[in-house]
Amino acid sequence: MDNDCLFCRIVAGEIPATVVHETATTLAFRDIDPKAPVHVLVIPKAHHRDVLALAGDPAAAADLLAASAAVAQAEGLTGDGFRLIFNTGGHGGQEVFHVHAHVVGGRALGPMVS
Ligand code: IMP
Repeated sequence: MDNDCLFCRIVAGEIPATVVHETATTLAFRDIDPKAPVHVLVIPKAHHRDVLALAGDPAAAADLLAASAAVAQAEGLTGDGFRLIFNTGGHGGQEVFHVHAHVVGGRALGPMVS
C-alpha cells in the first residue's frame, strides 16, 4: 500500500467508496464524478502506477480485465456496449496514479478522442 495514494486508501477502507464488485485482487467502485449513467472504476488492490506497470504483472492484468467484464455484465452493459478506458500519463489525462479501468456506458458515447 502507498499511503499517499487515494485508491490504495479506498482499498484500505480509509476513504469511502460505493463498491459494486470485489474479488481477492480487485475492487470496483462508482466514479465520484460520473461521465455517463454507468461509470465504474476497476482497480487492482495492489498498487501499480499505470497500465504500463500493470503489464509487468500479467496475473493482475488478467484479474483486472475479468473484473471489468463482470462489472459490465452486472451493470447491464453487454447488450448495447460500453467503453473500457485506461487513461495513461499526462497526455492520456491520467489524474490518479493507481491504475484503473473506467467502465463507461448506459448511453451512446461520442467520439473516443477529444
Ligand atoms: P483518471 O483521469 O483516469 O486518472 O481518472 C480518475 C478518476 O477518478 C476520475 O474520473 C475521478 O472522477 C475519479 N475519482 C477521483 N477521486 C475519487 C474518489 O474518491 N472516488 C471515486 N472516484 C474518484
